[in-house]
Amino acid sequence: MESALAAADELLRKVPLIDGHNDLAWAVRINGHLGVADLDRLQPSLQTDLVRLHSGRVGGQFWSVYVPCRFKGSDAIAATIEQIEFVHRMIEHYPNRLSLATGAKQVEDAFAAGRVASLLGAEGGHCIGESLEILRAFYRLGVRYLTLTHNENTSWAESATDVAIGGLRPFGYEVISEMNLLGMLVDLAHTSRSTALASIRASRAPAVITHSSCRSLVDHPRNVDDETLRARLAANFETLEHFARGWQAYAAERHPAMARFITTAPNARPSWRARPPSARPSRARRTSARRP
Ligand SMILES: [Zn+2]
Repeated sequence: MESALAAADELLRKVPLIDGHNDLAWAVRINGHLGVADLDRLQPSLQTDLVRLHSGRVGGQFWSVYVPCRFKGSDAIAATIEQIEFVHRMIEHYPNRLSLATGAKQVEDAFAAGRVASLLGAEGGHCIGESLEILRAFYRLGVRYLTLTHNENTSWAESATDVAIGGLRPFGYEVISEMNLLGMLVDLAHTSRSTALASIRASRAPAVITHSSCRSLVDHPRNVDDETLRARLAANFETLEHFARGWQAYAAERHPAMARFITTAPNARPSWRARPPSARPSRARRTSARRP
């Protein structure tokens, strides 16, 4: 056990462990008694704080700027901006512990300096209020992924935990196209299978699934089925390469069917680079639903 811990410790000194989703901003918001200045000591009422982040050797953190689906339209946009502001304030309050990262170089620099690279991810497509301008504004504020849905459908994307609306609708394709142009990751956590598969096909950059589990192991609609994982691996294998290698032994032991397609991933072609322009959504359709 000690040698395993030593090996993990050694690995985490060399490679930044990046957590894809942390709801600390929302947890502090609903707590009502805590603020930015309270996060550098253990906070038992929260699932995370900077003390545990440090002891867990987290090298990079996507701070979620989540707002619940009950926030609609401009309320959702305003609340998301408040969450973004909280994260920026938190980063500025702990300059020796956290460092804003909006790209890979900044993640590497933060890790080399012993700080937690702090990235922002927006959860739930409702937060953009059906506006590509708001999406672009979020990007300017540092947001580097958008989870297309939360627990409820948006008007343009189907959630895994809501009624079927046909997966990804036309404006959803516009959102993904805009995210590709901006350099914002498409996050498929919470989305339905049909939304996820359509998004993987549509996106010209690797999609991510920031916080979901494997449905073959735990049959819950929030988890990702084998076909979606297979499609994602085929389209975006570079993203999953390290994960897949590390996971092979576990998957082979627990679920041989999954191990089979994981082991084929390194031979897959990076189709997101090779996709011809004719396969991309039309530029002419890339306009906001609210644009006059
Ligand atoms: Zn979530």
